[in-house]
Amino acid sequence: MVIDCPVCNGKKTAESTTKTSNIPHFGEILESSLICSACGYKHNDVICLEQKDPIKLTLTINKDTISSRVVKSQSATVTIPELGLKVEPGPKSLGYVSNVEGVISRFENVVKQALAIFEDEESQKNGLAIIEKLELLANGETEATLIIEDPFGQSNIMDINVKKDTLTDEELKHLKTGFTIIEESSLE
Ligand SMILES: [Zn+2]
Repeated sequence: MVIDCPVCNGKKTAESTTKTSNIPHFGEILESSLICSACGYKHNDVICLEQKDPIKLTLTINKDTISSRVVKSQSATVTIPELGLKVEPGPKSLGYVSNVEGVISRFENVVKQALAIFEDEESQKNGLAIIEKLELLANGETEATLIIEDPFGQSNIMDINVKKDTLTDEELKHLKTGFTIIEESSLE
């Protein structure tokens, strides 16, 4: 479907596509994307069509799990604790379907963006060290832990070794969802 671009307001410049797929052991998902040929705006999203409980997925990243499929919903927090890396959902967070290697390369891109912004010696040194570790991980030469926490339970890792826990109320409280939450007012 061709629509007007929500970003540059280009007339019929944005191509919108949606696709439903059924992923075994996971369920129906809706993948949608929007690409504008005028301004280059791109938006991808993965929406799970089934209601799920809050979930915490834990997987050891190594050469056996590097190709395992990952569904990361818009509301999920992704962490590699050994490297001190965490990506939390924000209003512009996107869902995606990828594999473990793809998750690592997304982290690599985030660190590279930070390197371009923070030019001081300390940041450069730390950033480059993390990129080196991420590359070793991507090559299956070292191990680390991948944690995906999703308050809406829509994320999944398709690997026989994945550990699935229900998020505790305490863990849930500390997770960002990517949605603006207006807390119960304490104003009297
Ligand atoms: Zn546009």
